[in-house]
Amino acid sequence: MLERCMDDLDEYVGAVTEAKARGLPIKLGLEVDYFPGTEHELAELLEPYPWDYLLGSVHFVDGLAIDQEPGLVHRVPVGEAWRRYFTWLRDAVQSSVVDVLAHPDLIKFFRMRPADEETHDLHVETVDAIGAAGVCVEVSAAGLHKPTGELYPDRSFLELCRDRGVPITLASDAHEPAHVGRDVDRAAAFAREVGYETVTVFDRRQQRQEPFS
Ligand SMILES: [Zn+2]
Repeated sequence: MLERCMDDLDEYVGAVTEAKARGLPIKLGLEVDYFPGTEHELAELLEPYPWDYLLGSVHFVDGLAIDQEPGLVHRVPVGEAWRRYFTWLRDAVQSSVVDVLAHPDLIKFFRMRPADEETHDLHVETVDAIGAAGVCVEVSAAGLHKPTGELYPDRSFLELCRDRGVPITLASDAHEPAHVGRDVDRAAAFAREVGYETVTVFDRRQQRQEPFS
């Protein structure tokens, strides 16, 4: 299993490295799905490569999908689904394997939410963990094209990030070439409205802040 992963990673990293060498303006990144207890294996698997940045995300909790049907929110009460999702996300943040948290409140995918107060408490606990770990948060336009119809994360979540000095990245989360950069301007406008003036740029896992272009 590990060897097969390495073969795939070798091929991917090789292609990106070659494109970089030809002068194309791209970064070597990877979205890493978090599963509790796999941190050491994951760190070992990723260590040999010259990543610019690593994104962390949670797409499955207890074997149930977050953004596929039927998923976690369809199997357990919505408050319980949200609690479990954010618990795994906090573990992902604390694993210190990743630089950025991708689509941080993916659990809103199906537009099913607990009461505002409960949502707020989960956001606070999560953003506290993010701030303490020094991880960035991705402002993603992908949700605009999903059942949720909204940017990730919620405004209240991003405001908490701003208050704690958590840096951000911007993303379209394209799964095909035509969608690269789609609606990133909306993600940037949203971040600006919340009070962000810079975006994080990565080189070999070193981050710096640059003004929105
Ligand atoms: Zn994802």
